Amino acid sequence: MANIIQAVRGMNDLLPDQTSTWQAVESIIKTTLSEYAYKEIRLPLLEKTTLFSRSIGGATDIVEKEMYTFADRNGDNLTLRPEGTAGCVRAGIENGLFHNQTQRLWYMGPMFRHERPQKGRYRQFYQTGVECFGFDGPDIDCELIALSARIWRKLGLENIKLELNSLGSLESRTAYIKVLTAYLSDNVDELDEDSRRRLKSNPLRVLDSKNPDMQNIIEQAPKLIDNLDSVSQEHFNQLKEMLTSHGIKFFINPRLVRGLDYYSRTVFEWTTDKLGAQGAICAGGRFDSLVEQLGGKQVPAVGFAMGHERIIELVKTAGNSMQSGHLDIYMCLLGGEAKRAGMLLAEKLRDKSLNILAHCGDGSIKSQLKQADKSGAKVALILGEDEVSSDKIIIKPLREKKSQYSVDQKDLFSHLLP
Ligand code: ATP
Ligand code: MG
Repeated sequence: MANIIQAVRGMNDLLPDQTSTWQAVESIIKTTLSEYAYKEIRLPLLEKTTLFSRSIGGATDIVEKEMYTFADRNGDNLTLRPEGTAGCVRAGIENGLFHNQTQRLWYMGPMFRHERPQKGRYRQFYQTGVECFGFDGPDIDCELIALSARIWRKLGLENIKLELNSLGSLESRTAYIKVLTAYLSDNVDELDEDSRRRLKSNPLRVLDSKNPDMQNIIEQAPKLIDNLDSVSQEHFNQLKEMLTSHGIKFFINPRLVRGLDYYSRTVFEWTTDKLGAQGAICAGGRFDSLVEQLGGKQVPAVGFAMGHERIIELVKTAGNSMQSGHLDIYMCLLGGEAKRAGMLLAEKLRDKSLNILAHCGDGSIKSQLKQADKSGAKVALILGEDEVSSDKIIIKPLREKKSQYSVDQKDLFSHLLP
């Protein structure tokens, strides 16, 4: 046993006893997206490194220290996607998806970041990303938030808080960064090392600091929300009104800046206090300049990404049992003749869309019934030599107090599917 190869740190196997919850949650997310007429886009896991450094921003945590980057055999610099927006925009430009049309898109799959693994933070993790292109107004911002709220409702998640902020236009943000930089420079003695570095490279990110010693100076800092341009202010006011009319509660968090450079105007985060330090389950906002920045036309855009691990952890914490793929029948087979006949009968039952587990290998009736019970199946069907020769089969209900009974094989369907 000395030489067992283990998985890469921070990259988890999802085992069979977990995947049914994952499937159930993912299926709720997909159904909800269909209810809003969003369409799936499937994107590569690998992209050219420059795609991420040019979009996410050179001075962000992701690009500075979290990317899995390597040269492939041709010497091309590639990166395992740390998030999906950049790839989605790249694909949209490359395939002309933004020409004179709007898009409501989603994708689901693994993302990769070289972070310190801990509860709720992994190096391979799963996201659903949702992105809309070509919509300028706050109505689509509201739709995205309502869509995510609907997902939480369907998953039975309560007490998730919506935090909201506006970063303004790129211009008002640039003006604000000057004001902020002046303030932080005046107080440079109170900044920790990380923040001093950020003051030079990306001052907005100082506001994002989790260091308790930094909270006072952050609290006192001039607020972006007080420095908004009038168009962004109006957009934000309308969004707040719409959310209120939808009955969606929100909290303005002036310090919510998000870790990625491409955001402007609306930003939001859904957070919970049930998961300890890793409390953000979904985050997003507008990125009206990203398409242009990556070589396309000016196309307004807004989106969000939700983290599956944290959502599923929350579903479990809430005690909601969410399972996919029920088993209808466990078929017990005793003896060679019964095995042959039973396999064929099982095929016919599957033609009727029943989920059926046919016992393989040997085993006494007692041990087969034990396994049938454990399998979660609603009924056991029992086929032995006697049944085969008389074209009968035994039905044994497993989840109700009812004794087993024997029926003619030709009448089986009507007993199973009344
Ligand atoms: P955080 O502040 O937790 O680092 P983030 O701002 O880096 O999050 P985003 O890039 O906006 O996160 O990703 C959206 C969502 O994806 C997060 O809200 C979270 O639920 C999930 N997520 C992000 N990074 C990880 C990770 N390393 N492991 C698990 N889930 C993650
Ligand atoms: Mg992060």
